[in-house]
Amino acid sequence: MTIYTPPPEHPDLSADDPGLLDAVAAGQARLTPEQGLAALRTLPLHELGRAADARCRTLHGDDLRTYVIDRNINYTNVCTARCTFCAFRRDADDHDAYTLDKQAIYDKIAELVAIGGTQILMQGGMNPALPLEWYVDLLSGIRSRFPGVHVHAFSPPEFIEFVQFFDPPGDTLEAKLRWVMVRLRDAGLDSVPGGGGEIFAHHVRRKIGLGKCDAEAWLTTMYVAHTLGMFTSATMMFGHIEGLADRVHHMWLVRRWQDRALGTPSLRDGTAAERQSPPVGHYKAFISWPFQRENTPLGRVPDFGARDEDFAAPGRLGEFAGDVLADLNGTIRGENALSSEQVLERVPSFGRRVRMSSATDYLRTQALSRLFLDNIYSIGASWVTTGPHVGQVAMAFGANDMGSVMMEENVVSSAGTTYCLDEAVLCRLIRDAGFTPAQRNNTYDIIRVHAATPDAPDLAVKDWSAHRARRMHQQAPPAPKAAKAALTVGATK
Ligand code: SF4
Repeated sequence: MTIYTPPPEHPDLSADDPGLLDAVAAGQARLTPEQGLAALRTLPLHELGRAADARCRTLHGDDLRTYVIDRNINYTNVCTARCTFCAFRRDADDHDAYTLDKQAIYDKIAELVAIGGTQILMQGGMNPALPLEWYVDLLSGIRSRFPGVHVHAFSPPEFIEFVQFFDPPGDTLEAKLRWVMVRLRDAGLDSVPGGGGEIFAHHVRRKIGLGKCDAEAWLTTMYVAHTLGMFTSATMMFGHIEGLADRVHHMWLVRRWQDRALGTPSLRDGTAAERQSPPVGHYKAFISWPFQRENTPLGRVPDFGARDEDFAAPGRLGEFAGDVLADLNGTIRGENALSSEQVLERVPSFGRRVRMSSATDYLRTQALSRLFLDNIYSIGASWVTTGPHVGQVAMAFGANDMGSVMMEENVVSSAGTTYCLDEAVLCRLIRDAGFTPAQRNNTYDIIRVHAATPDAPDLAVKDWSAHRARRMHQQAPPAPKAAKAALTVGATK
């Protein structure tokens, strides 16, 4: 295996140096975190987009842009965590708590296979009622019934809770994770999705991800998956209470651990053995999306700028609290001199205002991810939350992949509107953006290229009224007390 050697950094150059951006686009220079932050903050939108598009074309060419046909399956909504941005989770005794029957999961996969699907993305809440055997049996059942379907399942927070629930042998978290993951891999798990990444900076994570694993545990889980030869993805959910520096710090951590996975010789904490024999698994993709607020506790927090006092804070007048606090090393700025509580006293609005990303904030962030994550192959467009046409524009801002045909979605649609697109619409969006649509599999190998012939999924459509993007929007229903227990986890297993 070829060891990846990252391009050199040029910390003496400013982020708006055209020579630097051209070199990054060509894969001949790596942005420092400081340059990344400056680019995110100050580069004109079109400049950021132009550079990200050039980088994408260097890696993926000028012609093909991809999508995958898979199905989201959320096997349970019972969860021990209480993330403030989540409208999906339920307590086990809530009237609408559920765990899908295994046959229901098999039926969903059969529907996927019937439309040419190749993969399931299966994630749940973190449900203590389900033993390891339930997962092993489910994965074995999927493998025996659908040997051609790739199982992309269980995010790092779920694995960390598996360690809590199953109490596996091992002296370290890494050893315990490996014990669990080997058993799930042997039963049929193919790769691990990057759910639960949110924002890695501790002061942000502890405010929004209540009960969810920290960044070190998240990254360690993915490292174990990589050492077992699995591909994974990394994600980031932004536009809530974090500062822009927290986004760059998040990407920086992903980049460093990807260097480690790829066995980069310059990695300081990699062992000599790791450098000589790098693990084959690594992050295949990075996907970021803006926070969706509806039906979530965090969504009830006022927008930044909605109150006069936002512009009367002492010190950094009119600046978003997340930006005042955020440091590129993931800590609270000034933490060495002040305690966290003291800093928060000085910036009392931290966590009490949300930024709420616009389409341009999303495009800027995605473009930076393409430029900053020079060691990650795929950048996915997030049309599920931003809408199909912003997703289409995202292909000019560094995204090479339009993600999946959306048959169902439960998690994000619980927190607001999401969009469901079929294959014809996805292909049309890609073609109208100036590219040739191509179906890929989970390892980003091309399965089919849809050249401009009459049998292409989009060009074969005579009546688009049956193919328009559907908007999904779930209102959180009131919880009638009397209905509790009937639909609990135990009753539906
Ligand atoms: S985001 Fe995931 S981990 Fe957090 S409460 Fe919701 S289901 Fe649980």
